[in-house]
Amino acid sequence: MQNHGSLIYEGKAKRVFTSQSSPDEVFIEFKNSATAFNALKKAEFHDKGRLNCQISASLFEVLETHGIPTHYLGVVSDTWMAAQNVQIIPLEIVIRNIATGSLCKETPIKAGTELNPALLDIYYKDDDLGDPLITEARLDKLGLLTNDQRSDVEDLARRVNKCLKEFFNQIDLTLVDFKLEFGITNRRKLVVADEISPDTCRLWDQRTSDLQERILDKDRFRQGLDHVMEAYGEVFKRVQGAYSKPRNYK
Ligand code: UDP
Repeated sequence: MQNHGSLIYEGKAKRVFTSQSSPDEVFIEFKNSATAFNALKKAEFHDKGRLNCQISASLFEVLETHGIPTHYLGVVSDTWMAAQNVQIIPLEIVIRNIATGSLCKETPIKAGTELNPALLDIYYKDDDLGDPLITEARLDKLGLLTNDQRSDVEDLARRVNKCLKEFFNQIDLTLVDFKLEFGITNRRKLVVADEISPDTCRLWDQRTSDLQERILDKDRFRQGLDHVMEAYGEVFKRVQGAYSKPRNYK
């Protein structure tokens, strides 16, 4: 990618760069690295960057067609996306439609229990603290969001869930749970940011009842299962089949 400026931020799966043409825009590079369990488990997966970039782009476009604001502007290449420059709110908003993962480790709720309405959990995004689950009262104390922003975050997260659940259902995928991050643009607008991909969503294939085979997301890596990228590739194929290729930026 030719036109990016300097590196602003490097995370576990992405790098964010300034844009030389506008302070309101950034370029995001999706990397092939994968981490799990707060980076205790690490690996490189050939093609992961491309698959996550393209899946994420298509999903942001799906959200946009439903009037949900996101930071996404367009794809620049296989592994690069242009986005609005936002200040990321250090919270991870997790929406759960079916109980699994940490919810079942931390509560007696049985794996596979349907959660309707979906459960919304808020985590404080801080690797050193291990991304702790936080309470409403602690969120208040942190002062990260105004009351209005807090209800907007929750409304938007629930709208994203409704929209993505329906979209994935059409391509025979069950959206089990997923994580969202939000950002504030230079014009003070709240938008969905970061990425939406098999790294951040649990997706189960409705075309098989095999409990391992149906996993088409990062749980394959977390659980040490094989065919991790084949699973991401299957999600990519179905998403693009239903949606078509994401738009190019400029
Ligand atoms: N998730 C994520 N990043 C995180 C933590 C969770 O993208 O740092 C996603 C994860 O992929 C899953 C959902 O959020 O789709 C719920 O994860 P959970 O709390 O069950 O944690 P886990 O079992 O992955 O530790």
